[in-house]
Amino acid sequence: MALHKTVETQDQAIEDVYSSGSSQHTLPKYRLPNHSTTPSAAYNLVRDELLLDGNSRQNLATFCTTWVEPEVKQLMADALDKNMIDKDEYPQTAEIENRCVHIIADLWHAPKSWQTVGCSTTGSSEAAMLGGLALKWSWKKRREAAGLPTDKPNFVCGPVQICWKKFARYFDVEIREVPLRGDALGLLPADLREYCDENTIGVVATLGVTFTGIYEPVAALAAELDSMQRDLGLDIPIHVDAASGGFIAPFIQQTLQWDFVIERVKSINASGHKYGLAPLGVGWVIWRSTADLPEELIFYVDYLGGNMATFALNFSRPGGEIIAQYYNFLRLGRDGYTRIQQACSDTAQWLASEIVKLAPLELVYDGKAGLPAVCYKLKDGIDHGFSLYDLSERVRMRGWQIASYPLPSDRQNIVVQRILVRHGVSRDLVALLLEDLRKAIAYLQKNPVVSSDAGPSFSHGAIAEPVIPADTPNLA
Ligand SMILES: *Cc1c(COP(=O)(O)O)cnc(C)c1O
Repeated sequence: MALHKTVETQDQAIEDVYSSGSSQHTLPKYRLPNHSTTPSAAYNLVRDELLLDGNSRQNLATFCTTWVEPEVKQLMADALDKNMIDKDEYPQTAEIENRCVHIIADLWHAPKSWQTVGCSTTGSSEAAMLGGLALKWSWKKRREAAGLPTDKPNFVCGPVQICWKKFARYFDVEIREVPLRGDALGLLPADLREYCDENTIGVVATLGVTFTGIYEPVAALAAELDSMQRDLGLDIPIHVDAASGGFIAPFIQQTLQWDFVIERVKSINASGHKYGLAPLGVGWVIWRSTADLPEELIFYVDYLGGNMATFALNFSRPGGEIIAQYYNFLRLGRDGYTRIQQACSDTAQWLASEIVKLAPLELVYDGKAGLPAVCYKLKDGIDHGFSLYDLSERVRMRGWQIASYPLPSDRQNIVVQRILVRHGVSRDLVALLLEDLRKAIAYLQKNPVVSSDAGPSFSHGAIAEPVIPADTPNLA
């Protein structure tokens, strides 16, 4: 036994990962392998495959966190085994979630931030579903109490993120997405009268429109709804999808009125894993007051003599992202968040000022009054010899991922690119990107692409529907 063990240990010591059995053939892809592999071999093989993924730091299409402090990685590892739903077993994780809810409610000026309701989610998508469901139930209760039909709910919005289209379909609510008019890049107050009616459960305003980075004018939308209430008797609440802007505006656009300062704003969602700076997997939804979240949707979990309200689509979920969110609040404070977001915004505006120097390009959004981002298009009326899709592909050769896509209706004829500047995207990194953009444009001008009407060459998660290749087995 002892001898056998020694020999085996020796074998393992001599064995090189890349000459081991499992390295000698391609990996089983769609079927469970018959035999085990050593942890180190399996680890290296999987890790190597991941080399083919894009480099997330160069992914300028994502809003999500791609850089964290080592302490965040440590906390994530420490919390690996904590299920945030087990509030009995992990009462401090529950307490930390609760603190985050109230910190965020305070940041967004909830009138009684210390006692209002809210919760963490897997991201803004789940948060949007919960916000939308609360609107639907509140509307339904009002209608039922008045003896009115409740079979045709709708909500009104501008160019929303895909999660709202999912909400509409999954929960059977008509989506009334107002097309873009004139030069507008978002919902306008003047659109509301035409699209809202007695069946409107709410208006969804976006703080940080996915397509461009602009903010929709929440205060002006609310004012128009106020005047509609006076004229028509319709009392329509607002939900703000502040997936990105919810952690930008409170720090660098402090005079902007968009949150619970506006009485008509009943709920707000944001992605902790975007400008909240937490690692992937956390979002937040907060209600103005407990009265704005219908009782029927709340489930109570008793723990340690307390009474914890829960409202979520998921059950089990990791606690690490929530803990990391709290770490960021504690570690950075208001000052720290302000410095980081301001640096991103300054860099975005600097990038915009450099983009205008690139002859074929024209700004659509200059990074000033919304998210730290830049959006641009090719100048109209000129044959540039290439499309933005070609430009995306060309800079991809240097590892940069920049999405090209058409604006939503009615401006689908305009193709844009958007660059997001987030924590970890430094001025110097952006300068390197600019140099590559310049070179790529010069190359494409010298070597025009014959057919430059190609569609998107790669899909972008936040915009496109997921594409499942037809020949991928084992997914169904
Ligand atoms: C990213 C985004 C979402 C979806 O958020 P996830 O956290 O990715 O689920 C919803 N709305 C807007 C405006 C977004 O930018």
